[in-house]
Amino acid sequence: MGELLGNEALRSKLVGMSDAGRLHHCLLFEGPNGVGKSASAIWLAQTVNCTGPAMFGPRTEPCGACWSCKAITDGQHPDIIVVGLDPDRTAPIISVRQARAVISKMALRPYNAKRRFVIIDPADAMGTQSANALLKTFEEPPRDTGFILVCPSARRLLPTVRSRSQRIRFRPVQRDRLAEWLAKQEIEQPDWIANLSDGCPGRALALAGGEAEEWRESRDALLDVLAGSMQGVFSYTDKLTRGDRATWTARAEQMLDALARMVRDALILAGGGSEARLYNADLTEKVYAWSAALGVAGSQRVGQAIDKARQELAAYVNGRLLFDALLSAVIAELGAARQA
Ligand SMILES: [Zn+2]
Repeated sequence: MGELLGNEALRSKLVGMSDAGRLHHCLLFEGPNGVGKSASAIWLAQTVNCTGPAMFGPRTEPCGACWSCKAITDGQHPDIIVVGLDPDRTAPIISVRQARAVISKMALRPYNAKRRFVIIDPADAMGTQSANALLKTFEEPPRDTGFILVCPSARRLLPTVRSRSQRIRFRPVQRDRLAEWLAKQEIEQPDWIANLSDGCPGRALALAGGEAEEWRESRDALLDVLAGSMQGVFSYTDKLTRGDRATWTARAEQMLDALARMVRDALILAGGGSEARLYNADLTEKVYAWSAALGVAGSQRVGQAIDKARQELAAYVNGRLLFDALLSAVIAELGAARQA
C-alpha cells in the first residue's frame, strides 16, 4: 500500500498488543490527513487476520496473498466493516442509519475473522446522534470485535467518545525520508512535494497527482492580486466568495493556505532558516522580499490574522468582508514587497 511510509513502530506496537491479547476494543487513530491512518487501519485488520504462513513466530505484516488479505484489499471481507460518509446524504456525514446498521451487524457473530474490525472513517463525521447511538457499542463491543475511529484530531470527537477510546497518534514522516521515497517512485520535484505535503505521504501522492499544480495556480493568482490595485482585490474576493458556501469555503481555504505558506516561509528566512525548507522554493526571491518586509514580528502578525480569519470563516461571517479586510492588512504589511 502506497501510503504506508512512516509510523512503523506504531504499527508494530499495535500488532504486538494484538498478539498479547491486549488490543484496545476502541482505537482512535489521529493525525493529519494523508499521514497513513486509513491505510494503517486496513493494514492492522489484515495483519491480525492474515492466514498466510508465518515463517518465524507471529505475523509482523500481512502476506497480501491469502484469502483474507485479498478480500480486505478488495473491500469484500464480511468482517472488516468500513463505515464512510453516507452516500445517500448531500452533507458529509455518517448518519444514524449507518450507526444502526453497525449495531445490528454486531448482533451477529463474526463470519470467519479472528478479529472483526469496524473502521469508522472519518469518525468526526459522526453527528451527536450517530455517536450517541454507538456509545454503548464502543464501550463494550462483542467479543473479538474492535473499533478503529479515524480522524485528524481527537478534539473533533465528543468527549464521551474520546474517553472510551485509546488514542494512537500518527506523526508526519521526516522530510528527507519522504523525499527519497517520492524520488524512488519517480515523482518529479520530490523535495518540494515533500515540503508541501508537511510529511504526509498520502498528501504527497495527491499533490504529485495534480494537486500541487492546482495549489500553485491558486497561489499565483493570489500573489498577482496582492501586487495589484485595491479594485483588483475587491473583484478577487467577490469572485472567491460566489456560489454556495460549501464550494466557496473550499476555495477560500485554498487561498488562506497559500497565504499562510508564504508567510510561514518568510518567517523561516527571517529567522535564519534554510531555503531547503521552503514551501515556495520556486519563488525564493519573492519569499526573501516578503521576509525582509515582514520580519519576524510582521510574519507573526499576518499569521495571527490568517488564523483569526479561519476561525471566523468557520463561524459563518460574511466571507467577502473578511477577506477584503485580511488582504488589505497583508498589503499594508508588505508595502513595496508585494510587487517584488
Ligand atoms: Zn495474508
